Amino acid sequence: MDFELDIKLLEKLCNAFGPSGHEHEVQKVVKEYGMSYADEVSQDRMGSVVFQKGNSGPKIMLAGHVDEIGFVITKVEKNGFLRFHQLGGWWDQVLLGHEVILKPSEGDGFITGIIGAPPPHILSQEDRSKVVTKDKMYIDIGCRSADEVKELGVRVGDPVVPHAKFRTMKRKFKEKKKNGADDEKITREVTVAASKAFDDRIGVFIILEVLRKLAEDKAELPNTVYCVSTTQEEVGLRGARTAAQMLLPDIGFAVDVDISGDVPDTEEIVQKMGKGVSISAGDGSMIPNPRFRRFILDIAEEHDIRHQAAFLKSGGTDAGIIHITGMGAPSVFIGIPTRHIHSHHGILDLSDVENAVTLLVEVIKRLDEKTVKSFTEI
Ligand SMILES: [Zn+2]
Repeated sequence: MDFELDIKLLEKLCNAFGPSGHEHEVQKVVKEYGMSYADEVSQDRMGSVVFQKGNSGPKIMLAGHVDEIGFVITKVEKNGFLRFHQLGGWWDQVLLGHEVILKPSEGDGFITGIIGAPPPHILSQEDRSKVVTKDKMYIDIGCRSADEVKELGVRVGDPVVPHAKFRTMKRKFKEKKKNGADDEKITREVTVAASKAFDDRIGVFIILEVLRKLAEDKAELPNTVYCVSTTQEEVGLRGARTAAQMLLPDIGFAVDVDISGDVPDTEEIVQKMGKGVSISAGDGSMIPNPRFRRFILDIAEEHDIRHQAAFLKSGGTDAGIIHITGMGAPSVFIGIPTRHIHSHHGILDLSDVENAVTLLVEVIKRLDEKTVKSFTEI
């Protein structure tokens, strides 16, 4: 690809603080980057930011959600420990012992804390083998009283996210040659990235890179493109709902992390990290328009873009709300298979990300009025 991903931007996006409902800091990073490549920038009152390119033909909406899963403080205990509630879906088993950062409502800084529960040493044999649930856990910020917590500016309602920095690792993947025999292996050098918040800073990153590529190519588009960094996806696709109502798109893309079926005991999931951008055949929130999906698959084949089919029985993305907005809009979920999503550390292959950017750019260039109409004609 004659285009290099801006990894510094990805790092900044992933490290930024922004659980659902508290996306301001991330949106500032997004806006500063995107505004140099857009014809127009706008926003809605749920905090989603819209970058527009072109001004005629069918309206194409690309959504990546900026919010990450996190927590909110619900109570300060007398002894200085903090009780919390989840923002987005957390699995109890991935929480204990992990570091988090809290943004106190008073003051500008951040405070680090540890998620704790009583130590196993004092538990009965029976309790030791049980999963501790979130409501039994607390965040320890090293205080001994509610007064000390108050001093630090911490209040009920303050937001919290995992503390885990973005980093990259070089790896050599050994793979079968395309259509080659089993013994004909090739080595592909890849960069694997690990971080918190890939869900969905990777999606926001991809739509921003699509916007930059369209600007750098000076592409004459047969459509109007809206790259939208949406809010509050993790608590029920709330930001995408108002953004889509404002834009009334004719076509929708949600770009998000996908589950990777290459970790032990996930064999039934067909999409795998490092096998290309995933093009969803459906999930719990939508059935993609089959003609539109076929159109995307054909373009991927034609341009030799590494891609794979994907399916999820449950769960959904922003496309789940975009496709039923207004009179409806053929939509698809474009994914990056990511290991360990909804935990402190996701792992993904940046070559899948490159494939996603290339595919989206090629598809967008071809979405003219006639083509878009053909997806729904009876
Ligand atoms: Zn997501």
